Amino acid sequence: MKKAPSPGDEGALKNAVVVRRESAFAVPNPAADQQTTDGQYKPGLGQETGRRERLIQGRVWDVARRGMKSTIVTPDRAARLLRYQKNRTLDRCGGFLASMQIETGGGNRFFMGLRADGLELHTDADRQYVFDLEGRPVRFNTPTEYRFRGISHRGTVMRRPEGMAAGGYERRLLSRGELIESCQEAWRAAEEARGGLNGPGMVQHAFPDSNIAVDRLLPVLERISRHPPQELEREAGLFREVYQPVPVLPPDHYGSLVLQATEGCSFNTCAFCKLYRGIPFRVRAVERFERHLLDALAFHGEGLRRFTRIFLGQANALAMPQARLISILECIGRRVELPPPEEPAPRPVWAHGHRLRFLGIGSFLDGFTGLAKSAADYAELRRLGLSRVCLGVESGSPELLRWLRKPANPEEMRETLRRLKEAGLATDIVLLAGAGGSAFAAGHVRDSLEFVKNSPLTQGDRVYLSPIREYPGSDYARLMDEGRIRRLTPAQIQQQTLQLAKGIRARGPQAVPYRLEPFVY
Ligand code: SF4
Repeated sequence: MKKAPSPGDEGALKNAVVVRRESAFAVPNPAADQQTTDGQYKPGLGQETGRRERLIQGRVWDVARRGMKSTIVTPDRAARLLRYQKNRTLDRCGGFLASMQIETGGGNRFFMGLRADGLELHTDADRQYVFDLEGRPVRFNTPTEYRFRGISHRGTVMRRPEGMAAGGYERRLLSRGELIESCQEAWRAAEEARGGLNGPGMVQHAFPDSNIAVDRLLPVLERISRHPPQELEREAGLFREVYQPVPVLPPDHYGSLVLQATEGCSFNTCAFCKLYRGIPFRVRAVERFERHLLDALAFHGEGLRRFTRIFLGQANALAMPQARLISILECIGRRVELPPPEEPAPRPVWAHGHRLRFLGIGSFLDGFTGLAKSAADYAELRRLGLSRVCLGVESGSPELLRWLRKPANPEEMRETLRRLKEAGLATDIVLLAGAGGSAFAAGHVRDSLEFVKNSPLTQGDRVYLSPIREYPGSDYARLMDEGRIRRLTPAQIQQQTLQLAKGIRARGPQAVPYRLEPFVY
């Protein structure tokens, strides 16, 4: 299980169809940094600010080489509060492997912080841009809205509408034009900061010192330079060559590397779901999956460092026959490093500075297909890296499940959960708040709470509460109309969610709100 990829593996990666990068850049390993002391500096995560300041001031650095003047930041002089860092100054932000505050020859100030999984760039105009280590933008923040860009080159925005109470946000997909505009803005800012590092300017803060900071920041800025909006558009085409659509993930896998061992859904009957309609269910041959895996690793490149886990998709990939599933997991285990199941609390990925190390593999499963495997089968999958399974229960009410055309009953799903738990797997379930409208509301809440109460879910497990989403023209909409069932209002769905959440928390597992839309990978 605990295998590091061999040099041969890297060679295979280079032969993957989308390879187009050098692999020399390595983000410093914090653990290694602790050992490479020069007597003055031991960067590590979460170190004390006071110590850091002393180290900066004690450092001699090469002014001539960079063409910059050295000024050590002081809180009353050059330091600028960073809105997106809890209004701290850059020298007081922890967790950076390197950071710099510079003023370019043109008088613009930039604040750069390199983390083990990405680079933050702040500007004087209250903008924050975050890039992955491959140089692709992933976040664009302004004081009024947060924009996200997925690796598929689609984007979402969260914005608080005027008058909405704190904590309330509207989410929507970004238009193509909006996304390109954000990418352009982030790229221009990064180019100016890169120019500032190479040209005349003033360093107002540097950690651990100017030379090391420049040496660490510059390679990432050069990667960003190679990702102007037109290149990101081209890569979107590459993404579609590597991936089938990724329409949904469990929330705890939004930061996961997605690998697709199956296409479509194995039964595709649920009235409320149109995620995989029209896509025939296919299990990939191991050779084909391996090609996909290599292509995916090559596509993400250094960007892999921001993924903590692997998600095996598309829909219930665990439904495939056990022998094929074992071969697929073994294939993954040959290419990446996964902690052994007995490791009690695996260290976070970034702590290793290892591009190909993940905390575990997760996947969706349905109660109905879950019964095809025994607890011993699941234990075998756990030994091969499977760590967390998300079960689409939707409701504890057998009547509602039948009406929703969900081909499983609560007893079957409870038995599937029992087998998963016996195998030592972490499990989450999804319940659909508001499903079945007023006709099923009382039974849905009562039976779902009963289901959770009698299930083997424990404290570390989660119950995701997802509000029902009705697509126009869907089977669900037709059933509601034919049955003349009154839809619950958003406020009533919210009330049902709170009712479920309260009852679930009293029984042990966590209750977590979950919104399907909008989502981009
Ligand atoms: S099992 Fe899941 S993916 Fe398949 S149709 Fe039902 S809800 Fe959709």
